[in-house]
Amino acid sequence: MRTSFFWGILLIFFMWGCISDTEDNAPEQQQESVSTTVDTTASTPTFDKFGIPTDSVEVQDYIVKRNESLYLILDKFDFSPQEIYSITQEAGDIIDFNQIKPGQKYRAYLSADSTKDVSHILLQNNPLEYVVLDWQQDSLQIYKAARPLTSKTVAASGKIENSLYQTISSQGGSRLLANRMANIFAWQINFFGLRPGDSFKVLYEKHFIGDNYYGIGDVKVAKFAHRGETYRAYKFEHEGIDGYFTEDGESVQKALLQAPFKFSQRVSSNFSRSRYHPILKKRVPHTGVDYAAPPGTPILAVGDGTVTEARYRGANGNIVKITHNSTYRTAYLHLRGFARGIRPGVKVEQGEVIGYVGSTGRATGPHLHYSLYKNDRPVNSRTVDLPSSEAVPDSLMDVFAEVRDSLDRRLEANIDTTQESGPVITQVK
Ligand SMILES: [Zn+2]
Repeated sequence: MRTSFFWGILLIFFMWGCISDTEDNAPEQQQESVSTTVDTTASTPTFDKFGIPTDSVEVQDYIVKRNESLYLILDKFDFSPQEIYSITQEAGDIIDFNQIKPGQKYRAYLSADSTKDVSHILLQNNPLEYVVLDWQQDSLQIYKAARPLTSKTVAASGKIENSLYQTISSQGGSRLLANRMANIFAWQINFFGLRPGDSFKVLYEKHFIGDNYYGIGDVKVAKFAHRGETYRAYKFEHEGIDGYFTEDGESVQKALLQAPFKFSQRVSSNFSRSRYHPILKKRVPHTGVDYAAPPGTPILAVGDGTVTEARYRGANGNIVKITHNSTYRTAYLHLRGFARGIRPGVKVEQGEVIGYVGSTGRATGPHLHYSLYKNDRPVNSRTVDLPSSEAVPDSLMDVFAEVRDSLDRRLEANIDTTQESGPVITQVK
């Protein structure tokens, strides 16, 4: 019960994760037209969060109203129609005028003296990006920029009591972090079978804009102790290599998926050397795993390979066979139908839909019979040790070992680090 509850939650944040990667991105305090005159007696120049000097400047914050255009915004600051025309002509390459939306923030910088000359107008596209109209020089400068994104690497750890999600969120961690960890360890750990007492430790990035949390970044290293074994995954990015590796530099990603479905499906009959057959009414080996998935459920190729068979074949019903490499091949039985283009000789990729669950051939109801063959012998796909995909090449093992040891040290010491990037100007007119 506990574990299926975990999966339910996990599915929710898989979907959730797709919707927004910038959770908790609380809007900053929004106020209509707040004026602040900055103290001019300070000796060092002051800049606001956008890197614009604010000495002797009155800063006014606004929010775009319904039907407010760039024309109306500029009109508010006493630009003449001719001036507005030439500004919009110049800004056209950088500002998408159709993208000025109600609720968007903008900021005006006026001289603090009686002239109230406009030095800058800044339009915020989103919490990260903005466009600046700058009249400080003789001619108008227009540029697009992004606020500095601060990356903090933080450590988190916990013991599983109920689910990974609950444990992480009880410590104020992001549900996305649970999602990332489940993805990283999807090939090693059966998340249906998490046990109270399993534990984890993780070092990951948190992104901030100013003081506001913007979202989570990469998981740098994660350890997961599960049923007496400790699994480790180190993020390693170097010379075209980018992935998670074990302490020995093996990929944590397996070349084959554990099951041919996107989401978990109930196993209705396990792999067995001797099973009572409900139709044949005698004991015969069951050389595959039956999944009681709803009819029409997409079936995925568990690994890259070549289709060797896709046809109706007696008791098997509609069958697809895939050869993955010289060691492994798989078979999928009783399909309602084949995915478009699936026929012998066609190459498929891991995760590609090859057909749909049905009950063709000798079947008591809709289900998928899935068989994995290792060196032409059927093996239990749920218990067999599946092969890893590409490892760190020997030539990079020294570099990898350094990265791994440094991550280990930081993980063990719970060292938080902060990396700040400067404001980035992305486009200049
Ligand atoms: Zn079966």
